[in-house]
Amino acid sequence: MYPSAAVTAAPLATLPTPPPLAASRDLRALLPDELTSWVAAAGAPGFRAEQIFRWLHGHGVQTLEAMTNVPATMREALEHDHPLVPLTQATVQTARDGTRKLAFRTHDGRAIESVLIPDEDAVRNKLTLCISSQVGCAIDCRFCATATLGFGRHLGAGEIVAQVYRATALAGRRPTNLVFMGMGEPLHNFDNVARALALLEHPWGAGFSPRRLTVSTAGLVPGIDKLGALKPAPNLAISLNATTDEIRERIMPINKKWPLAALLDAARRFPLSHGRRVTFEYVLLAGVNDSDADADRLPRLLRGIPAKVNLIPWNPFQGPEFKRPSAERIRTFQERLRKAEVSVYIRSPRGDDIDAACGQLAARELVQMGGARVGAPTLPLPSPPATGVGEQSSPAAHASSSSPRA
Ligand code: SAH
Repeated sequence: MYPSAAVTAAPLATLPTPPPLAASRDLRALLPDELTSWVAAAGAPGFRAEQIFRWLHGHGVQTLEAMTNVPATMREALEHDHPLVPLTQATVQTARDGTRKLAFRTHDGRAIESVLIPDEDAVRNKLTLCISSQVGCAIDCRFCATATLGFGRHLGAGEIVAQVYRATALAGRRPTNLVFMGMGEPLHNFDNVARALALLEHPWGAGFSPRRLTVSTAGLVPGIDKLGALKPAPNLAISLNATTDEIRERIMPINKKWPLAALLDAARRFPLSHGRRVTFEYVLLAGVNDSDADADRLPRLLRGIPAKVNLIPWNPFQGPEFKRPSAERIRTFQERLRKAEVSVYIRSPRGDDIDAACGQLAARELVQMGGARVGAPTLPLPSPPATGVGEQSSPAAHASSSSPRA
């Protein structure tokens, strides 16, 4: 029913353009004007488009049957033209700090993950959801667990937003912030990510403010420019991770294609609305990029860019020979940046006891469970979603007001 997309290995120099995905017919991926055209072609009244969109993106329904006020004949026609591509929730793991990792299975048996991260300060009531944009990743950063999987395929826009609706149902409320920092490189899957952003922002659906959406990139310069040209543009995060081309190349081979100067120029060009900043993530690797000299070079690199730096102590996983710097080294590094008047924060590794911390998403459980490997032949789908999550979540979770402002 859903033929799987072609799977190609991705040599860095020529990142593949998205293969035509079966998921492009996904009902959940249709923008309001596309749904409006479909409804008009079906000879139905115009209000049906808004009604269907609200079910999908406001209420997060998982089946066509759940759209109880849409006539059965119309649901059948939709099923024929635009079947709802399922994203099956497979497992949920809860960490000691309340972070929850959600593992999903795609229609073609692939494994992806999202992470729900409650704010450490409960009073702020912030709930961040970290979502995936690809099955695996092609970018090959040496310190990242997802990289060890290789590249499987791009996620369709419907599969990207479905993670948000599943997580909303699980949490009982809509996340306040969404970050594209799960599996994959979002700017390598630009068209689907841009479409997902538009779906998430639309007032008929979840109505996220673009200020609450952040796309994080390993540094695909043309993609950064395209993201900046979106109206409205979301927030930009750049995984910088080094202060010289030599070191960055060693840990992020993508730097050979788009070196630091080109990357920082793209950051300078990125349009920022009032008070917004570019976030620079900096994974701290002991003896690699955590020296005083690095801390002194960093502010110079960021000069002229409204910037915020997030220091992420490296989260270990089996394989690469990196080490997390000592707590003292991390503090010293932060202090040096602070003295240079950089806004700098240390990101505590949330959910690390369940491998839900940054860069640890490699869908290990699913890989073991189903014998599925990213990039491996597709698996038969398990029987229909036994998710433990209701088809619709509580009305509170779907209140149509947009998320609170920063
Ligand atoms: N491809 C995108 C988004 C996914 S990675 C990007 O590169 O930004 C999300 C963040 O996790 C990046 O900042 C990356 O540098 C960081 N990261 C990856 N592996 C990590 C690890 N093992 N420990 C800590 N941070 C890691």
